[in-house]
Amino acid sequence: MRVGIGHDTHRLVEGRPLILGGVRIDHPRGLLGHSDADVILHAVADALLGAAGLGDIGEHFPDTDPQWKGLDGGRLLADVVALVARAGWKVGNCDVILHAQEPKLTPYKRAIRENLADLLRVQVSDVNVKAKTGEHVGPIGRGESISCEAVVLLQGSGLRTED
Ligand code: MG
Repeated sequence: MRVGIGHDTHRLVEGRPLILGGVRIDHPRGLLGHSDADVILHAVADALLGAAGLGDIGEHFPDTDPQWKGLDGGRLLADVVALVARAGWKVGNCDVILHAQEPKLTPYKRAIRENLADLLRVQVSDVNVKAKTGEHVGPIGRGESISCEAVVLLQGSGLRTED
């Protein structure tokens, strides 16, 4: 078994859709980024790469490369899951903390868990999503940004080659 951690932060701005965990959230502002800026999917993808010892999403999907502009977080995570699977790993479970002063995530948590479970090829019960406010302090608490932390456990599927 291997564990990995991931983190992502994006600025919250006017004129962008808010997409969290692949789910469109009803909110007047969205996250700024070269891609769709989905902090949850990006943090989970980095946790997977970390657990597998395969670097980070900046190496695999550089934001200087125009082919990744507007990249869908679901496509990115699916690509990472496939990469990790080819290296001989399957996901055990995933735990996520979203840090956002607003909006409230509760109405969307189930849909986000289901989407993550599909992408990670696990059961919904293997995925947990928590949300914390910024207590009105710092850039998160002032609504200037949203961050996400994710932890995943990988289990060797028996395909892994030794190096
Ligand atoms: Mg990101």
